[in-house]
Amino acid sequence: MTTRVLSGITVAVVGVLLLCSGLATTLIFGGGTGAAACAAIASVTPTAPSATRSPASGGIGPIGDWSTEQVGNAATITAVGMRLGVPPRGWVIAVATAMQESSLINTPGGDRDSVGLFQQRPSQGWGTPEQLQDPQYAATKFYQKLQAVDGWQAMALTEAAQAVQRSAYPDAYARWEPDATRIVTALTGVTAGLATCGVTVSAQGWTQPVHADVGSGFRTEDRPGHDGVDLIVGKGTPIHAASAGTVTVVRCNAVDVRTGAGWGCDRDGDPALTRGCGWYVDITHPGGVITRYCHMLTHPSVAEGQQVAAGDVIGVSGSSGHSSGPHLHFEVHLGDHTSATAVDPVGFMASVGAPLNQ
Ligand SMILES: [Zn+2]
Repeated sequence: MTTRVLSGITVAVVGVLLLCSGLATTLIFGGGTGAAACAAIASVTPTAPSATRSPASGGIGPIGDWSTEQVGNAATITAVGMRLGVPPRGWVIAVATAMQESSLINTPGGDRDSVGLFQQRPSQGWGTPEQLQDPQYAATKFYQKLQAVDGWQAMALTEAAQAVQRSAYPDAYARWEPDATRIVTALTGVTAGLATCGVTVSAQGWTQPVHADVGSGFRTEDRPGHDGVDLIVGKGTPIHAASAGTVTVVRCNAVDVRTGAGWGCDRDGDPALTRGCGWYVDITHPGGVITRYCHMLTHPSVAEGQQVAAGDVIGVSGSSGHSSGPHLHFEVHLGDHTSATAVDPVGFMASVGAPLNQ
């Protein structure tokens, strides 16, 4: 391990200790730059006791598929954002951007003259190669550019990241939003204000899981067994919890109809050869209402038993399971998880002030 990496980890640990000290709450409610705009629609879910939020002994542990080194770099990026007074949504955008650009590994080189966590280019005026290999410098430059983007807090993550990075593959940022959200939450305990500020929650506490047209409807003549609606969105679109509740199911359900064996959910399904919901989530809301979200691209970003707030990102859209192309299959049940209790999501969502088709 090089001295540079070692010193990076030390900085990260200091950062995380700071983050756990309650500074986060102050930042959100004390109002960093632009935080007020987010506060009105941000909602707070109970955070874990501080003991569970402290870094594992010996430093920061791995989170999901992200190693100690990668999580350490995410911690540095988050700590810099807090220090600069950037609202929490910015931390998620920055971590997701670094996930796409460098897999959160502080690399000395890259495409053309790109350097470091954000793959910034000295030739484009970002700084010297030496400066850009310093995670704190690189993150500071990222946040400075982000905050100069008009209306960045209301933008989709892809749009905001692209405004800073000008990548050749802008859509690639979106798929990291759930992981980035999960890591930022794990490091800071902050759950409020992480989603796009464009998410609006109705007076009854509901929001659209995605903004999209209804492609295929509920139990149509052609598809009487279709217990939900298909909301047409591109691959990698963040899916939001329609209301607050408890995640009761996180599962891969994709079966090869020819053999009865598992098809797998980390790849597209097939409308003829695959049966099942793919990667999917059920959320149980107060009053016995259950919402279901199917065909996600990758493992959902929530876990069974987790509390979510309306608008929290729970995963991204894809085409896993019985599916002919990227979309969100969305169901609403009144009572239990069975087909018998499914109701038309169009009517239900209109009744709770969060109509679909917009
Ligand atoms: Zn469907």
